[in-house]
Amino acid sequence: MSALLAVLAHPDDETTFGGTLARCAAEGVDVTIVCATGGGGGGGPDENPAAIIATRQVELEAAARVLGAARVVHLERTWGALPCLRRGNYHLVARDHERAVERLVRDLRPDVVLTFGNDGVTGHETHVAVGALTRRAVAASGLTPRLLEVAYGPAQVAGVMAWIDAHPDCLAEYQEAQLRNPSIGPPVPEFVVVPEEAITTVVDVTAFLDVKRRAAACHLSQGGGGGILDAFSAPTAEAFVLAGAAPGTREDHVMPR
Ligand SMILES: [Zn+2]
Repeated sequence: MSALLAVLAHPDDETTFGGTLARCAAEGVDVTIVCATGGGGGGGPDENPAAIIATRQVELEAAARVLGAARVVHLERTWGALPCLRRGNYHLVARDHERAVERLVRDLRPDVVLTFGNDGVTGHETHVAVGALTRRAVAASGLTPRLLEVAYGPAQVAGVMAWIDAHPDCLAEYQEAQLRNPSIGPPVPEFVVVPEEAITTVVDVTAFLDVKRRAAACHLSQGGGGGILDAFSAPTAEAFVLAGAAPGTREDHVMPR
């Protein structure tokens, strides 16, 4: 049985490639979702981060079931001294998480590892850090899975922006939440756009849009179910950059053929 390991920074990050996860699971791939943090910064400044983490971890597990993932591994639970990471503190645990991801790669022997690239899709520093530690962990494992970094190319960004234009109420609701908690992101979602020619792998997820949206809807605390996460679920194709690919590589699936 082939296996895929997806390494996220936060519960709900899987929304950016949920169609690919659902498609792989439907094709019989053993899908594991690893989540580095519990997303304790995703509530209002007066909310208890531990409670937010507990909520978000349950939301991710529900989303993973909808997508057909076999298991979810929460790394924040493995680290007790500072259980509620706030934005900017991730460097304190990155080394532990790197070792944990390395162990998972050795144990699960995935054919494919999906994570963030240097742009972190939105530039979020924890996305960037998790992508970097995943690359180091894969290298340290001595194994050679296909390593793919999620990319928002012009088509993906256009898909998200078209959805936002068609749902102005949703953007207004997100902006109210953003005023209460600016750490959730900029007032209008921003992406580091990956140029078309840098993208190696484009996965058609049209048949899994509904699954992707139902999974995003599990993240009720983060704008799932009619909120801003639906915008991130809108693209009908998901894009990746395959590490070490030969120039000009173009493929239509993350799994090896
Ligand atoms: Zn995130």
